[in-house]
Amino acid sequence: MPGSIRGAASAESARRANLSVVLRLLHRHGTTSRARLTELAGYSRSTMGVLLEELARLDLVEEGQPQAQRLSGRPSLTLAPTDVWLAASVNVDVGGVEVALTGIGGRVVAIDHVTTHQPVTPYEAAHLAGELMRGLRTAQRAPTRIVQLVAVIPGRVQTDTGVVIQAPHLGWHNVPFAQLLGQVVGLPVTLAHDGHVGALAEALRGDVQDLAYLYGGPGGIGAGIIAGGRLYLGPAHLAGRLAHLYVSDDGPECYCGGRGCLTSVLSHRALTHLLGVSADAGNELREAILSGGARISAALDILLRALRTIVACYDPDLIVLGGSLSPLLTVGRQQLEAGLLQTNLKSARQVVRLAKPALGSDQFHIGACDLALAPLLEDPAGFCTLPA
Ligand SMILES: [Zn+2]
Repeated sequence: MPGSIRGAASAESARRANLSVVLRLLHRHGTTSRARLTELAGYSRSTMGVLLEELARLDLVEEGQPQAQRLSGRPSLTLAPTDVWLAASVNVDVGGVEVALTGIGGRVVAIDHVTTHQPVTPYEAAHLAGELMRGLRTAQRAPTRIVQLVAVIPGRVQTDTGVVIQAPHLGWHNVPFAQLLGQVVGLPVTLAHDGHVGALAEALRGDVQDLAYLYGGPGGIGAGIIAGGRLYLGPAHLAGRLAHLYVSDDGPECYCGGRGCLTSVLSHRALTHLLGVSADAGNELREAILSGGARISAALDILLRALRTIVACYDPDLIVLGGSLSPLLTVGRQQLEAGLLQTNLKSARQVVRLAKPALGSDQFHIGACDLALAPLLEDPAGFCTLPA
């Protein structure tokens, strides 16, 4: 290749890579002042000007409200991702189906759900999701483009084939759900495990490299491990399944074939039984945990066993406890932290923090948005110029 052509090709690939850097920063930080964005990217003001102009031309970025005037002079302009390019997500759980449209920056722009009183079949889930998604898309006032749909499943999924291998609480086994849902909604569909999506979202927004994530939902406990900034999966994508930590000699039998797994000993069913509330309690379970008094102590002991094992195995900076585990943290933080201090893993016990999800109830949709927008964030210029 002649030198000038090679030079032009490399300038073009540098420009596209720089566009990706700026868009990723906006995705991570949301609306940001132009001065802060330039500082984070490390580009000159003129380079940043050219890149922002192109991102605006691609309908990815727009100017927001100026931030308050600083002592040094002019107010700093802010930049915000537009709502033109969106991620779609579907969260299927035993209590129902929820769909959302989420923009760059993880802002949920529309959300809807339907509650079901028994686990849905794959066919029902796909059609409920399709109906809800049609409603959300119709309600959008301005034209939008959806990059792809990520379906969040409380079970083991195979992302390359789009098959739900096992979602025990839904009763799904070997279901080609990506294909089924794709046919109904007319969008490309990727599957993701709920624990993985939650872990990725919390690590990215929390700026943490080593994190353990546990979520207590009606469909059992979802979990994910982020090690060195990456989802820890293992060769068969079976690693980090913290739901199956062994925590009790006399616990109930688990669907995995073992006995005394965290997911069965601290399941919603086990907690509602312990606290004497209705099995489909919803919010009632949270309130019952918060006012559970001495009855909660046994559940906290079980959770502490799991946390000690997690600290010993992964030495994370942060352990995020979501869903029904959040109120357990509220009432038992002292007991859990004191228990972790008794471990002889001196270095680990000094750094690990326990926290509730920073992203609240939208965490799965925000994590799904991170996955769904990946091809756009990777190469904004290339992706946006593809035919719709
Ligand atoms: Zn198990």
